[in-house]
Amino acid sequence: MRSFDYARANSVSEATSEASVSTDKARFIAGGTNLLDLMKLEVMTPEKLVDITRLDLRDITPTEDGGLRIGALVTNSDLAADATVRRDYAVLSRALLAGASGQLRNKATTGGNLLQRTRCYYFYDTAMPCNKRDPGSGCSAIGGATRLHAILGASEACIATHPSDMAVAMQVLGAQVETERASNEGRLIPLAEFYKLPGDSPHIETVLEPGELITAVILPPPPGGTHVYRKVRDRASYAFALVSVAAVIGMDGGRMARVQLAFGGIAPRPWRSAEVEDLLQGEDPAPALFDRAADLLLADARGQGGNDFKIPLTRRTLRAVLAEATGMGDSQ
Ligand SMILES: Cc1cc2nc3c(=O)[nH]c(=O)nc-3n(C[C@H](O)[C@H](O)[C@H](O)COP(=O)(O)OP(=O)(O)OC[C@H]3O[C@@H](n4cnc5c(N)ncnc54)[C@H](O)[C@@H]3O)c2cc1C
Ligand code: SF4
Repeated sequence: MRSFDYARANSVSEATSEASVSTDKARFIAGGTNLLDLMKLEVMTPEKLVDITRLDLRDITPTEDGGLRIGALVTNSDLAADATVRRDYAVLSRALLAGASGQLRNKATTGGNLLQRTRCYYFYDTAMPCNKRDPGSGCSAIGGATRLHAILGASEACIATHPSDMAVAMQVLGAQVETERASNEGRLIPLAEFYKLPGDSPHIETVLEPGELITAVILPPPPGGTHVYRKVRDRASYAFALVSVAAVIGMDGGRMARVQLAFGGIAPRPWRSAEVEDLLQGEDPAPALFDRAADLLLADARGQGGNDFKIPLTRRTLRAVLAEATGMGDSQ
């Protein structure tokens, strides 16, 4: 590991001004469960770490419109166990519990989880070209081992997936990310606009500016309905998603009155498709309709060989989740 400067922030303004001093060479450190690993491997080499663990960002509080404000330092364990989250945003609690391990969830924070880096093997191997780690060097995954890689939203420069389970659940719930910049300018960024697709600059993963601090995630009022999070992975625990589907479905008179769906493990960001939701909304649940929804979702899907299986797997997982959430059983 290379040497670096270290500063402990005691307030949000201190954190943002410390991080702005050396622009993109400074990084905030929260739980450290991803950043420290990357620093040890010299995949990330910040010149300065700004420790934010003393900031007052650990509360989960109701918002005026009936939603929830989750401080950026709330741990994944505390968020999953929160009574309001378990009752009103069950999909989020389930997604969190499907991620990592108990020990990691005790350290991992809400802000850090949103900004964890991809699990592409080549990104972690500094001997291999990787456009995300070293812009312009090439992509070793294309033509290489692609089991974990994207079938939607990828580019010629990068086919990595976003690894977070929590972000998929927050995407299905329509969350917003609250941030603060050194100029004391806060902003609210819809999660749907937070992550950038790789295009020809896969090293730029979000719309955050250098030194911009996530202070909280805001959830809208509870959506009601049935919440399902299904994660398909190589092992029963301690593994990232090959495919995951988050669903919030409200039924009315036998029809799907409200349909919110998000997908993980298949794209460079948590994936949501308004067209698929519109197709299902207002309709009676039926296997043929679920097939049409999967066709629409996967119309532009492209495998790379090693991840071709994700296309039928996504189809089957979506059908199973829709069947479960609409009370048709789980035998799709
Ligand atoms: C073995 C293993 C298995 C795992 N399995 C899963 C899994 O199945 N599913 C899953 O979703 N995750 C999984 N994880 C990832 C884990 O959830 C993340 O490492 C964790 O959530 C990151 O949070 P952190 O607080 O430790 O972030 P850190 O490591 O402290 O930071 C991560 C990044 O976020 C930035 N950052 C942190 N907080 C802020 C903030 N408030 N504002 C701006 N930037 C910030 C840091 O600068 C850094 O770039 C796994 C991790 C490991 C090691
Ligand atoms: S897929 Fe992306 S992260 Fe993986 S090697 Fe290619 S450029 Fe790097």
